[in-house]
Amino acid sequence: MKGDSKDLGFSTRAIHAGQPPDPTTGSITVPIYQTSTYVHEELGVHKGYEYARVQNPTREALEANIASLEGGLACHAFASGMSAIATLLTLVKAGEHVVCSRNVYGGTYRFFHLLLERYGLSFSWVDSPDLSTIERAITTQTRLVYIETPTNPMIEVTDIAGAAQIAHARGAQLAVDNTFMSPYFQRPLEHGADFVIHSTTKFLNGHSDSIGGALVSKHESDAEWIAFVQKSEGAILSPFDSFLVLRGLKTLGVRMERHEANGRAVATFLAGHSKVHTVLYPGLPDHPGYEMQKKQASGFGALIAFDLGSHRAAKSFLDGLELLSLAESLGGVETLISHPASMTHASVPRERQAEIGILEGMVRVSVGIEDLEDLLADLEQALAAI
Ligand code: PLP
Repeated sequence: MKGDSKDLGFSTRAIHAGQPPDPTTGSITVPIYQTSTYVHEELGVHKGYEYARVQNPTREALEANIASLEGGLACHAFASGMSAIATLLTLVKAGEHVVCSRNVYGGTYRFFHLLLERYGLSFSWVDSPDLSTIERAITTQTRLVYIETPTNPMIEVTDIAGAAQIAHARGAQLAVDNTFMSPYFQRPLEHGADFVIHSTTKFLNGHSDSIGGALVSKHESDAEWIAFVQKSEGAILSPFDSFLVLRGLKTLGVRMERHEANGRAVATFLAGHSKVHTVLYPGLPDHPGYEMQKKQASGFGALIAFDLGSHRAAKSFLDGLELLSLAESLGGVETLISHPASMTHASVPRERQAEIGILEGMVRVSVGIEDLEDLLADLEQALAAI
């Protein structure tokens, strides 16, 4: 299929990969195959489609598209980012061990710590930007190294190639949650990772109107297992959500460019503001992950965390915003702002939050693609009111 060719550019594949004209009508847009089952022509003869939990053309188009963008062998789409992560973790058996970035999305921490530990999996939480912490935590039982880069919400950068090398040398695999960067800026499989995870809810869909997840794999045997779990557990992405994410992906490149241009400008504005204590953004040259981010990604993204010094100051600022929306989530066209300690990371105990560096005065912003001057004006007036 021409649209899938590796020689094509990123945005060309975002528009065409996995999406030949519909075979029945020639429809240029992949139809929403809203069906639960498929009629067999006669016993034992069908068109490759039997039951829609297992096969759905809309979902398959999306999966082919994301696999192409991440440079993976296969992709499987799920009902949420968390269900993609849950499927990945079925590779780890009772008695086996996972080394995990200590600062991951709060829901990932909750799932690993409060659920999977009940089933005999064990986890070591490491400061993954310091690769030696991964190396030291690996045991003979380690099956998986799991990282986010940059992390949520501390925006810490981990060397993907370095982590892959350490994991592989000890017989483990590396999974990277690439939600913050999207394949437009960072493709972890090219740096040696074995799996990529996305909450498609975020930049891939990009319009804050769908919850979904994707798990991209590099090796045939892993892809077969994941397909088996997808059909057995059944946490599939619906045809309508698959359609929405496919539509969102067509503009991923232009959206990410604009997200980043706004992100850099907002980070620079915040870094120069007297009410702001610290700004965490990998595109600021004084960020500890700046050089690594430049090396392994082609952009810095649109996620910024900054500290206003106290819970009181953060509350005053957040309550004073008029245009920016106080909401969990990220990666939508609209700028979303949140308070990690009480929102996205509320399930992480207070002492652990403090250990990781999540402060009461910290705010996280996912910079959207609105006009920059409107964003800066709203930030300025809310900061002035603290
Ligand atoms: N990974 C990251 C980095 C996230 O920020 C989130 C959600 O915020 C998830 C995974 C979970 O995705 P979902 O909410 O689609 O289940």
